[in-house]
Amino acid sequence: MSIKEIFTTMEYGSASENSDVAQQWLTNLNNTFNHYINGQWQQPKTNQYFDSNNPANKEHIANVADGSVDDVALAVTAARKAQKQWFAIGGHARAKYLYAIARQIQKHSRLFSVLETLDNGKPIRESRDIDIPLVARHFYHHAGWAQIMSTEFKGFEPLGVVGQIIPWNFPLLMLAWKVAPALAMGNTVVLKPAEFTSATAVLFAQICDEIGLPKGVFNLVLGNGKAGQAIVEHSNIDKIAFTGSTQVGRLIRQATAGTGKKISLELGGKSAFIVFEDADLDSVVEGIVDAIWFNQGQVCCAGSRLLMQESIADKLTTKLVERMKKLKVGDSLSKNIDVGAIIDARQLVKIKEMVALGVAEGATLHQATLRETECADENGCFYPPTLLTDVEPASTIAQQEIFGPVLAAMTFRSPSEAVQVANNSRYGLAASVWSENINVALDVAPKIKAGVVWINSTNIFDAGAGFGGYRESGFGREGGKEGLFEYIQESWLTKLSTKTVTSKANKKVAKSVSSALSIDRTAKLFIGGKQVRPDSGYSLPVYDVSGAHIAEIPDGSRKDIRNAVEAANKASSWSSATAHNRAQVLYFIAENLQTRAAEFAQRISQLTGKSAKDGEKEVDLAINRIFSSAAWADKYEGQIHVPPQRIVTLAMKEPLGNIAIVAPEEAGFLGFVSTIMPAIAMGNRVIVVPSQQTALLATDFYQILNTSDVPAGVINIITGDREALTDTLAKHYDIDGFWYWGTAEGSKHVEFESAATMKRTWVNHGKLYDWTSDEQMNSELFLRHAVEIKNVWVPYGA
Ligand code: NDP
Repeated sequence: MSIKEIFTTMEYGSASENSDVAQQWLTNLNNTFNHYINGQWQQPKTNQYFDSNNPANKEHIANVADGSVDDVALAVTAARKAQKQWFAIGGHARAKYLYAIARQIQKHSRLFSVLETLDNGKPIRESRDIDIPLVARHFYHHAGWAQIMSTEFKGFEPLGVVGQIIPWNFPLLMLAWKVAPALAMGNTVVLKPAEFTSATAVLFAQICDEIGLPKGVFNLVLGNGKAGQAIVEHSNIDKIAFTGSTQVGRLIRQATAGTGKKISLELGGKSAFIVFEDADLDSVVEGIVDAIWFNQGQVCCAGSRLLMQESIADKLTTKLVERMKKLKVGDSLSKNIDVGAIIDARQLVKIKEMVALGVAEGATLHQATLRETECADENGCFYPPTLLTDVEPASTIAQQEIFGPVLAAMTFRSPSEAVQVANNSRYGLAASVWSENINVALDVAPKIKAGVVWINSTNIFDAGAGFGGYRESGFGREGGKEGLFEYIQESWLTKLSTKTVTSKANKKVAKSVSSALSIDRTAKLFIGGKQVRPDSGYSLPVYDVSGAHIAEIPDGSRKDIRNAVEAANKASSWSSATAHNRAQVLYFIAENLQTRAAEFAQRISQLTGKSAKDGEKEVDLAINRIFSSAAWADKYEGQIHVPPQRIVTLAMKEPLGNIAIVAPEEAGFLGFVSTIMPAIAMGNRVIVVPSQQTALLATDFYQILNTSDVPAGVINIITGDREALTDTLAKHYDIDGFWYWGTAEGSKHVEFESAATMKRTWVNHGKLYDWTSDEQMNSELFLRHAVEIKNVWVPYGA
């Protein structure tokens, strides 16, 4: 071949990575992978193994132990036994272990890379230059967090035993994202890798063994979904960290409902890649290659929806098709290829079906050509880089995750339309924004509902910056300081009284509001800034402390909730108001409550039997709480992460959106105020169900809201049957977060029902908070639950 031909075809000679060392490693293990439990290699209790193959050539890699409930039980026992001591050895000692792991990973980086590629089918260039260096960086970074835990996280403690379940697309990297923070914070781990990709997890366990990690600190159980399920359902595990499909994430949310297990879910995505007309199109094309053809598109945050401004759509499509056709697909060990093998024949079938569906739905197909011999179906699982144009934003291929090298392209006209189309997804994991105009990019980024936004870049990750999604992409963050909160808890939370909270349901009165007797005035619902009668036309009685019937409160229902959510949606400008403005409004509420303090104190005495003095104290404390939230409104700020590239990452704290709050029954007015204020201070709109016994105080309170410049729809108050309202709120599609203080059964119900829409939930499992305690109420816990952290990556350099 002449040099000229080489330049035009871009054909190079073969440059295959030598896999002898990896093959020898497999031979030494007799091509058999066992569990690593309590510092020992253990055969599966059932003695069953399954095959794992190289998807690029279908060659057998290993027999993998098929983990069962019994294997998981052994691992959990070991982890539990080891946990106290692992925390007790202190941050410095844990830091040294994590540092040793990082060093070992670097020393064996080539073996890790080759094994990862053999097992997963990803190009060696990617495992060698991206996955493994990031793994090492993760352990170094978290060694640092272990070292400084006692000062940075004063008052916190580890959760205990953590169950971790990871997918096959970044096997070792996902292990690192989960294991490093968990161990750094003093937890012990039971981890299950995906059935397709166990190899690097086994090598990792070997390294843990070699560095003398105390037994039981890291336990590896191999197997398929059954082993994952056994971890999820084990009663002696304190937390589940999961990465995988939204479908399994939902099952995990349901299975853990009411158990008190903390969970973090990193699920699917359909991330938008938005190109404005002033973007540098050549950079954009390379960005798209990284966004959707990196790792064969099997990336949860892959930029799988291309949104092009109409004026440059044709030009960009032409450039992109030209570039796509030059991508080389083939043997994953070849250092020359761009796209490797799809993980498994079943995934390949799914991709083919989705593309056929796209074409049937009217999309135009553009594909690179596969080299016949290298990529023949009988050799391995290969699929060509694919672009679908003329895609309708509502079509299946624009809405569903394909998890393959398939890009769905559509157009938009204005920045606001771009935001609208980008947010037209049930997912919210990531997005890329391409524009040479920094004003446009920084205006659009906060408006996109996604946990990560890359500006003029894509698919960049770092241990120091949080990663995770909104909506059906899950909740919780991995990486950065924000990710560590997934593995620790405030010590006071572990000491809450377990005295059962019981609901005191008032009986329904079979008469209309207007016919009620002995009421001094008509209490109403408060929706969209207006006092409204309940749709049901029913009321519930309110008794004073002596049991006398003193008034009635509206019995709110499904329709009232629907109206309240609509009102909350219309109040979205509250979320974009400046923090200073929000603080001013909160201070004004406090000021107006102060003016009517005596009246509120009297009402507290009447409803609860507290002395006049205690009533006054409660109002004072409520005012204090409002001041605290106002104070935090403009101080609970984001952070700037500085990853090791020429990039700054703006970790911005954003409101969740609409938060449903079921206030604590036992904490009356103080509980009502203490829950709403931090939520609205952070820019959320709330739909709140107050305590039934003291609901009249909530309905008195809306008069204060009306005089305090609180925009209509920011606070919506629905009185009524707490259980029925809780059920409706948990099932509502347009609620982003749910805070619930009530019974253990109610907590379980909230968690279970919230799975359908993947709301972020915060429940008390029937435990009692101390609403008078400064330690509990002025902690950042409320604020943390009131925000999502979005990391916006901004590269710099002339
Ligand atoms: P899954 O969600 O099924 O698997 C992820 C992990 O969960 C694996 O370790 C899996 O085990 C385990 N698992 C499976 N079922 C259960 C269960 N009931 N309880 C607990 N753990 C369970 O993803 P798949 O690998 O099957 O891929 C399916 C689709 O999911 C892909 O096509 C893609 O769309 C999406 N996906 C998304 C990922 C992401 O990062 N967001 C990553 C991977 C997939 P095992 O695999 O061993 O059976």
